Amino acid sequence: MKNGVLMQYFEWNLPNDGRLWSQLKEDAAHLGEIGVTAVWIPPAYKADEQADEGYATYDLYDFGEFDQKGTVRTKYGTRKELQDAISALHDNNVQVLLDVVLNHKAGGDYAETFEAVEVAPSDRNKDLGEPREIESFTGYDFPGRGDCYSSFKWHWYHFSGVGNDTRTGTDAIFRIVGEGKGWSQGVDGENGNYDYLLANDIDLDNPEVIGELKSWGHWVTEEFGFDGFRMDAVKHMDYNFTRDFLRSVREAAGENFYAVSEYWSNDLGSLDSFVNDVEGATDLFDVPLHFNFHAASSQGPDFNMATLLDGTLVQTDPSHAVTFVDNHDSQPGSSLNSTVEDWFKPLAYGLILLMREGYPAIFYGDYYSIARQATPEEVRTEETQAGKIREGSCHRLILDILLDARKNYAYGDQTLLFDHPSTVGLVRHGDESHPGSGLVLLMSNDMDGDKVIDLGENHAGEIWREMTGSIPDKVKIGDDGKGCFAVKGRNLAVWVKE
Ligand code: CA
Repeated sequence: MKNGVLMQYFEWNLPNDGRLWSQLKEDAAHLGEIGVTAVWIPPAYKADEQADEGYATYDLYDFGEFDQKGTVRTKYGTRKELQDAISALHDNNVQVLLDVVLNHKAGGDYAETFEAVEVAPSDRNKDLGEPREIESFTGYDFPGRGDCYSSFKWHWYHFSGVGNDTRTGTDAIFRIVGEGKGWSQGVDGENGNYDYLLANDIDLDNPEVIGELKSWGHWVTEEFGFDGFRMDAVKHMDYNFTRDFLRSVREAAGENFYAVSEYWSNDLGSLDSFVNDVEGATDLFDVPLHFNFHAASSQGPDFNMATLLDGTLVQTDPSHAVTFVDNHDSQPGSSLNSTVEDWFKPLAYGLILLMREGYPAIFYGDYYSIARQATPEEVRTEETQAGKIREGSCHRLILDILLDARKNYAYGDQTLLFDHPSTVGLVRHGDESHPGSGLVLLMSNDMDGDKVIDLGENHAGEIWREMTGSIPDKVKIGDDGKGCFAVKGRNLAVWVKE
């Protein structure tokens, strides 16, 4: 895909008004215009309650169609509204990636009794005591949907672990005991074995489960025409399952069916191992790059900008890297809260949108701002949308400029200029299929800076301008093909041919 851009079209604090799919439909033409080529939508199937963001998955077949968990629609709307949004996006050549949660299920319909043993949270291989009979909500019969689309009913033996014993009121991690039961081995090694994340952990070694989930993968791509998946929580899932599941989906949906997975780890070695284990079946979000951005933004001038790309996936395995700045988990107040500070976001987005490597993802919260829960006082005195207030800096203006730069100028060979502790950047040399393309990106985390850059003698005499509006002066390229390009302190500059 030529200079594709993925947009994560949700943030954690969206109001529970069932309006996201309608809004997405109305926004489809605009997204296509600004150069967004794919949107990643949140888990679109029924969760354990209407207000849930979708990660507490209840029924993978109910996209806001059946009266279940006290609601027909999900937080984001109805199945019909989702399908209308997908059509509008496809009409504007924007792909749609569904967020796929196959690690766990929540909101069971009834309790079942079975054998389980409590394990230590910090070492899941360590049993605390003997196996005993417990009771937990592992029974799913989907009373509102019945057998429509699938007659599969879930029971305790389709799960590996649960998070409570309702008989004794104990919240703890319980590993389910029985023939063929146990944690999956192909998972992250944190906490001894990181198979269990939350709720009812799906047993991805169980043949009935594997068959049902593959069958769902075929159904969902056929019914909705999704172009790809964003796989949730893969570090908690057996990599053999993730690889085989995506293979199975591609047998039906085609080899070009796209996948990116969330492996939330700052350890590059773990990401590399995972890509190898799944034989390249999925791209990964470049989490180490996000943490470099986070560190750079919080350390200010003390951060060595020459190291900004060190230890990242986009540097070592660019063809599998989806680069991003923030997401719904790293935004303020969310579970992984490692937000990149506002002053640094333009620099971070400049880098991921203009560099040759990586598939960049922009975050809804950075383009449209994020919301927080209104205080009771604010609810009384201010206009709030379903009790939420939108706030935080919105980076839409600079993102529109950078998207324009990506679409029109970010082509051709690349020279990296990570040669100074505070002023760094890169050159794109342009290519023949995009006349006038090519650019210079500079970033500074300290004082004003500049670099003399050799663009080549074929550029002699050209006038270059700065796109973001931070520097009004033009640069004339000398007869030797060199120009002196400037950047303001704690800012970025994007220079292109006038
Ligand atoms: Ca798991």
